[in-house]
Amino acid sequence: MQVYCLPALSDNYIFILVDSAQVAVVDPGDAGVVLDFLRSHNLTVSMILNTHYDSDHVAGNRSLLAAYPGIPVYGSAIDRGRIPGQTVFLNDGDRVRVGESIAHVLSVPGHRHGHLAYYFPESADLFCGDMIFSAGSGRVKDCTHEQMQQSLAKLRSLPDTTKIWCAHEYTFDNLTFALTIDPDNLELQSRMVEVQKLRRALQPTIPTEMGFEKRTNPFLRWDSEVLRSRLGSVGDVETYTEVRSRKNQF
Ligand code: FE
Repeated sequence: MQVYCLPALSDNYIFILVDSAQVAVVDPGDAGVVLDFLRSHNLTVSMILNTHYDSDHVAGNRSLLAAYPGIPVYGSAIDRGRIPGQTVFLNDGDRVRVGESIAHVLSVPGHRHGHLAYYFPESADLFCGDMIFSAGSGRVKDCTHEQMQQSLAKLRSLPDTTKIWCAHEYTFDNLTFALTIDPDNLELQSRMVEVQKLRRALQPTIPTEMGFEKRTNPFLRWDSEVLRSRLGSVGDVETYTEVRSRKNQF
């Protein structure tokens, strides 16, 4: 499966997945960017995959449906009525086929109650919307911190080689914050140097790898003794919550 990463809106990424003549668009927050790309690559859309209903992830659904009538629109069963044009209502454990590739549907409440991640085990590609960013994580909107931490644990249990296709380019700001609570982390420091270079060249900083994020992303390190002693926290949820609230105030 080939993955194309399209910058959209102010800091979103839309993903185009191409496999055996099928094309899936993940979280089209802006249809114009997608339509331009498809025309220039001579592709048509076979389906839309939405991770959650926030407008920067679904605002292009209707225009894509107008251009490609009848294509299925996948999203969570919980988001029925909220995702424009939705036709398929997914639950945890469901499968979605894109050409020859199969996505496992993971229910990951935390940022939104109906948030989904699409994980392709064969190619180790993960499309996780606003759950994990490079060095960061989405805000807790209509869930508890405990739900968010448990969903992040579910994603963190995927193989270290998993490629994380985050829906936003927030890496520089996230690293700036991460270095305030984990300043001695050498991998964080060198990632900052790499990211500054990439952003100066207007290059995306994603995908990032799960193994790397497990060692550097403070939102995935609730069981790190280093972080816990710095934050003065004890349990998993308490440590995650402390990182979240510091980031909210950063
Ligand atoms: Fe978003």
